[in-house]
Amino acid sequence: MDKTDKPMSVLVVDDEKDIRDACERILTRIGFQVLTASTGAAALEVMSRNSVPILLLDLKMPGMDGMQVLTHVREMDETTLVIMITGFATVETAIEAMKNGAYDFIAKPFEPEQLRIVVNRAAEKMQLLHETRALEEERNRTLADLHTEKTRIRTIVESLPDGVGVTNSQGQMVLMNPAFLQLLDLPPDCAPGKPIEACIADNEFCNLIREISQGWHVDYEDIPSHELDVSDEKFLLARSRPVLGEKNQCLGAVVNLVDITSMKIIDRMKSEFVAKVSHELRSPLSTIHEQLAHVLSEMLEESSGVDPHILQRAKEKTHGLISLIGDLLDLSRIEAGIVTQEPTSVCIDELLKNIVDFMGTRAKGKNQSLLLDLPDQPLPALMADPLALESIFGNLIANALNYTPQGGLIRVRAELAGISIRVSVIDNGFGIGARHLEKIFDRFYRVKDENTRFITGTGLGLPIVKGLVDSLGGFIDVESTPASGSTFTVTLPVKEADSS
Ligand code: ADP
Repeated sequence: MDKTDKPMSVLVVDDEKDIRDACERILTRIGFQVLTASTGAAALEVMSRNSVPILLLDLKMPGMDGMQVLTHVREMDETTLVIMITGFATVETAIEAMKNGAYDFIAKPFEPEQLRIVVNRAAEKMQLLHETRALEEERNRTLADLHTEKTRIRTIVESLPDGVGVTNSQGQMVLMNPAFLQLLDLPPDCAPGKPIEACIADNEFCNLIREISQGWHVDYEDIPSHELDVSDEKFLLARSRPVLGEKNQCLGAVVNLVDITSMKIIDRMKSEFVAKVSHELRSPLSTIHEQLAHVLSEMLEESSGVDPHILQRAKEKTHGLISLIGDLLDLSRIEAGIVTQEPTSVCIDELLKNIVDFMGTRAKGKNQSLLLDLPDQPLPALMADPLALESIFGNLIANALNYTPQGGLIRVRAELAGISIRVSVIDNGFGIGARHLEKIFDRFYRVKDENTRFITGTGLGLPIVKGLVDSLGGFIDVESTPASGSTFTVTLPVKEADSS
């Protein structure tokens, strides 16, 4: 018996007072709390008011005998351990009582030591039962907690305003919250188990999710986000990350969808606004520019005494504004996805030669060398809008000349790279600091430092170049070291004439 706890109760039921007193004395001494009853009815009465873990019950009693009491006790509390007290002649009845649910028996007359052993054994058994029950309760509680926790997390995922979907390692959907279904225009009762392609109509993104699900992208940094056009009026930003198990093994992918329709609409409105304003400004400005030029030449002829520099400056400014407006309109058109001309077969060698020839005069003006490196074999023709190509390389070469000091060297190199043509514009000019590199393709971004202070520009050249390269399915890359120079590399896919 655990002596630190409250003493365990034993109820002694016997019609003989001596036995009751003897039991009480012996058991109290070893730490039990002893209750007594002289009849079966009195015993049941005590049990209805107290919790009695151990019952010492005389078999032979006047009135309700031990066997009857046992039957009632079993009905009242099946955990009570009943020890039958029997006479020599009634061992068989005692065995019968054991069959009916008594725990043990002790034969009269018994020695104190015998009583102690029997009752202590019952107390130990009772203690074990308590501990087992406590463990069982604890286990049930933990399971219930886990269940509640799972339900709670599920409720949170279900209530998220962003779309959340999870795939297994085979690329099948195993979880889709209501926002996920709603954003992708899927029916609300769409059941998991479908392949990702059945839910997202963007092959490139689905392939990426499959790769992530199979554990190809453990480095989170290199996972690109995607823009999904669900319809003309619904745009989503989609991101995906691997779901890793305890041993870092990939279990699948989680896909997060955010509705960016309103941002896209505002962006579109901004672009339309810029396009409209630019368009409205262009003609009056061009007229002013021409009239200024006219007035300027007349004044110079008449030598009117007006400082021609003032008018010259005004002419330069209007010219700058006209080219800004031209750039803005180009950019608006590119962003709206309007291709100016049908793609035709373009010989890139010829196109580059012409641009380099044309720019040669400007290079000479700054005492710069502008060289073109072409491979021995002619390059395959590109299916593209030739004006777009002229704009791309014209801008890059003009920048190289602009941002390279007097006497510098600019090389234009074209080569075949697999199924693409790669053109690099390499200069040994001012270079671009690392912190500016990411931003130079943003609209109106210009690096402002000692070297570039007096160079005029709009900050729209590179966004135009990037927009055009994107529209041709290519990509542009830049490497640069301040004070050493920059290399802009454009890679364009060679397409078959009939595949465009
Ligand atoms: P702009 O030349 O009209 O300023 P761009 O969009 O063409 O606009 O270029 C953005 C900025 O990138 C430039 O202002 C310049 O600071 C930097 N840049 C572009 N090309 C080069 C280059 N070849 N060398 C150094 N800096 C460059």
